[in-house]
Amino acid sequence: MSMFGQVFVKNNQYKLKGDFHHLTPNMPIRNADDDWKLLGVTNPRAMTYIHSYGGEAIFFESLSKGKLLATRCDNAECGTTGSVYIPFRICCPDCLSKMSVIDLTDVAKKSATVHTFMECARSGAFNLLDKPIKFINIEFDGVSTILMSYLVVGTPRFGMRVVPIFKTTGPTYTILDLAWVEEGTTAEQLPEGFGF
Ligand SMILES: [Zn+2]
Repeated sequence: MSMFGQVFVKNNQYKLKGDFHHLTPNMPIRNADDDWKLLGVTNPRAMTYIHSYGGEAIFFESLSKGKLLATRCDNAECGTTGSVYIPFRICCPDCLSKMSVIDLTDVAKKSATVHTFMECARSGAFNLLDKPIKFINIEFDGVSTILMSYLVVGTPRFGMRVVPIFKTTGPTYTILDLAWVEEGTTAEQLPEGFGF
């Protein structure tokens, strides 16, 4: 089996290496209740999808380095100048100008609380999180929005103080590199690869 496709960019172009589509032999689907007659075939397919982060790439790169970034509108003409947003967004929802990137790590460590939460016993296809998944909506001092993430140590409750943890060892460069634990959790309690 050849390697999965890999991508890098040079001269502003995607450079592809390896196989992006794997054709695997199909298998018959047969009817056990009718003398194993043929009903159809399975078509196994593995594909590699190229997902570009665009202006949000810095957010995911920073998670892998233990930093939580947000954005702020600094346009003096805007009706909501100074508003801070996380999830990270590129443009101001009010004036549409490009926003400034700010480091929210300390604010998160000192002020993050659970706004609300839900526990999910089941999840969709390809979900990698351990079940039950404790989804939490997080509030920060001075931030206009609420962040959706997941709690890995502790039982969620309204107003609970939580602190961010980051998968800095073997990062996935996805939002799963960010998780939360109850304030006071020790380093030994963290999942593999995560640190404060
Ligand atoms: Zn604005």
